[in-house]
Amino acid sequence: DQIKISRALLSVSDKTGIVELATALAAQGVELVSTGGTATALRDAGLSVRDISDLTGFPEMMDGRVKTLHPKVHGGLLAVRGNAEHEASMAEHEIGAIDLVVVNLYPFAQTVARGADRETIIENIDIGGPSMVRSAAKNHESVVILTDPADYPLVHGATTTLEQRRLFAAKAYAATAAYDSMISSWFAFADQGEAFPETLNLSLKRGAALRYGENPHQSAAFYAATGPAAQGIGQARQVQGKELSYNNYNDADAALELISEFRDGPPSVVIVKHANPCGVASADTLAEAYAAAFACDTVSAFGGIIAVNRPLDRATAEQITSIFTEVVVAPGADEEALALFAAKKNLRLLLTDGLPDPKRPGLMAKSITGGWLVQSRDNGGIDAGDLKVVTKRQPTEQELADCLFAWTVAKHVKSNAIVYAKGGSTAGVGAGQMNRLESARIAAWKAKDAAEKAGWDETRTIGSAVASDAFFPFADGLLAAVEAGATAVIQPGGSIRDDEVIAAADEAGLAMIFTGMRHFRH
Ligand code: 5GP
Repeated sequence: DQIKISRALLSVSDKTGIVELATALAAQGVELVSTGGTATALRDAGLSVRDISDLTGFPEMMDGRVKTLHPKVHGGLLAVRGNAEHEASMAEHEIGAIDLVVVNLYPFAQTVARGADRETIIENIDIGGPSMVRSAAKNHESVVILTDPADYPLVHGATTTLEQRRLFAAKAYAATAAYDSMISSWFAFADQGEAFPETLNLSLKRGAALRYGENPHQSAAFYAATGPAAQGIGQARQVQGKELSYNNYNDADAALELISEFRDGPPSVVIVKHANPCGVASADTLAEAYAAAFACDTVSAFGGIIAVNRPLDRATAEQITSIFTEVVVAPGADEEALALFAAKKNLRLLLTDGLPDPKRPGLMAKSITGGWLVQSRDNGGIDAGDLKVVTKRQPTEQELADCLFAWTVAKHVKSNAIVYAKGGSTAGVGAGQMNRLESARIAAWKAKDAAEKAGWDETRTIGSAVASDAFFPFADGLLAAVEAGATAVIQPGGSIRDDEVIAAADEAGLAMIFTGMRHFRH
């Protein structure tokens, strides 16, 4: 199953490694055939090359749209060697066998990325290249297809094994599939502005191999988005620490998404566990914000995933490294902070280029058995004008600020979500319960526990604002918040029992705001 290469067709946009490969092939007596730009590059290197137009008997034409699309090329690639009928056709039509094709395609993605006009983008859809790749890969029993410069050295000797050719063919079809996915995504999203095309093709690039999935008996890998969706935790730069795990990615993503809400706000810190925030705070300095976020739930913060909205400084790094922390995500870190982290070999530090815009559009997908659920990102936010005070009492300025802070955090807590906040810091977070009352109770209980642990003489839910990610279906959840000492409530409203809930709020002397927007998160 070894084959010796006699004729090679080289046609590459990215000329990396092509001269070295062609030189090695020529030294083995291989005839080199090439298209315009590639032929020029090889001749410039002193190699003797046959033009594709000489082989086809047709000129390259139509701005290069038609160069290699010819039976003399595709016959030479597709003919089954040793098949009498195929060989008779070759003889009759003077088609010579081509044993090796080296192709990489017009830079479509790069053309889109540099903001080229529509005409230029269309011109950068490669037609002849993918056709040759697919023909050669189909006939991999006898033909070698190279699409990745990293593989060129394997063929410098002008011979290959069947095993190699199979691997090259698999890679080749992955390359053309990814190429067409990019084109299809561009047509659907950028050109047609379609939210949900009939067929959704996403081009994802394998990134880190993960040690295992959510559990050790599951395997896992990370696939990074390409194109405009490529901004987020998938593009963060890991500067130190052990490899990220599947759960690390998931948690770091949750932390980055929440901290991004504070992109334009005061110094803020988010501590996440199992994709839920267990402490969030804003303060005058990052170190103060960390201390307040940590105090909210010192038990859960152990092994936490932290995100901050300012470059890390020494004071904050000192606090973070004083307990066991899994991952830190930051838009930068100063020298002193970096030195402190460096002493904690296992701590994973991820640096980002700024923070993503929480209002940016995008798609979110979740796999279910037999398919994927796809929806637009929850990029919803509220403005002052969207807020409706529904109680007799108006919130004070402080209550309003606490309400908005609690609401922002609640958006990033798994439903049912209840968040108490006071003075720019979470006081208690109730996440993921199957009913809202339970979340309200858990959050209040956790606040009490935190106060006891810190030796505060008052639990911070007293005089706090409470946010609920969806309406209270009954008054009971609200009454639990009243019992915990909350004086202001923010929630979407919209329950058929809103009247009941408003009456309970009025009776307790609360100020309650309706947002008109829900933030379920499952
Ligand atoms: P060159 O720089 O050699 O002139 O062109 C190389 C590029 O042309 C490669 O990216 C290859 O995929 C592409 N190509 C080869 N044949 C054809 C063809 O017939 N039509 C089009 N549109 N592109 C081709």
